[in-house]
Amino acid sequence: MTKKSFASRLLGIFSSGKGDEEFYEELEEALWEGDFGALAAMDAVDELRTRGRDGRIRDREALTGVLSEILSTSVKAGRLELDSDRLNIVLVLGVNGVGKTTTIAKLARYAAGRGIEGIVLCAADTFRAGAIEQLEIQGERVGARVIRQESGSDPGAVVYDALASASSHGDRLILVDTAGRMHNKANLVKELQKIDKVIRSRAPDALYSRLLVIDSNTGQNALRQAEIFNEALGIDLIAMAKYDSSAKGGVAVAISKQLGIPFGFLGTGEGLDDLEEFDGGRYVRNLVGAR
Ligand code: GDP
Repeated sequence: MTKKSFASRLLGIFSSGKGDEEFYEELEEALWEGDFGALAAMDAVDELRTRGRDGRIRDREALTGVLSEILSTSVKAGRLELDSDRLNIVLVLGVNGVGKTTTIAKLARYAAGRGIEGIVLCAADTFRAGAIEQLEIQGERVGARVIRQESGSDPGAVVYDALASASSHGDRLILVDTAGRMHNKANLVKELQKIDKVIRSRAPDALYSRLLVIDSNTGQNALRQAEIFNEALGIDLIAMAKYDSSAKGGVAVAISKQLGIPFGFLGTGEGLDDLEEFDGGRYVRNLVGAR
């Protein structure tokens, strides 16, 4: 069964004409199941109860309005910083299958649209069969050079190559694809930390961002992934892929509130232009079905 969106769940709670207590309990349950996280769910319901006492929440519209106002304060939006006058490096992280490679291609298109000239894709997922070829396909799609080595080679060395190549060509952006094998977490973390070290030591003047890609459909699991990558490396920004195909859960609320990491992008399809800058207010209004 596909997961019901929070907005449709909310609609169900409203239309059944329940008493106050039952209403708030169901609302809290819906928030929990909608992946908003325990903290945000409890806070939101507490705040709603307080406001409800003043008699300001009379109908569904008033409640979705107030609820989106409350949840908006938990969601953090941020922008990918790009500077056309120097080298930008974006280390793209995430578990296999979340939409990392596709997001890299979209980011190349996004950066080009912001005047960034000379874009290189770096194939530092040397572990997964097919990852390098996949990145080459995306490179062709967006007209970006792909720096690669043989499958199985040291990812740090590929990043090293990409930095040298970008420097000799005067490129302005390196988008680094990385491995995402969660079944061998300790090795993966070590590998990512090594890449991070290569970037910091070899390109200390670059504008460097660590961007995590999560899949909108994975709910609470995405929170866990954000925790792991944030602990390992620190995450500057999150892109939430496959937003078009998800049940529109509230995991961005949970991640922002619990980890304080801002969201930069929503992936809204498989096309190169299907990347939206994240707007916290609009995200929350969509979630609760408010206008
Ligand atoms: P990776 O393993 O993390 O590199 O994931 P991919 O980039 O290969 O994406 C996995 C699948 O998700 C592919 O079939 C993509 O076309 C698809 N995909 C990626 N982003 C989006 C998105 O924003 N919307 C939709 N509908 N599909 C997406």
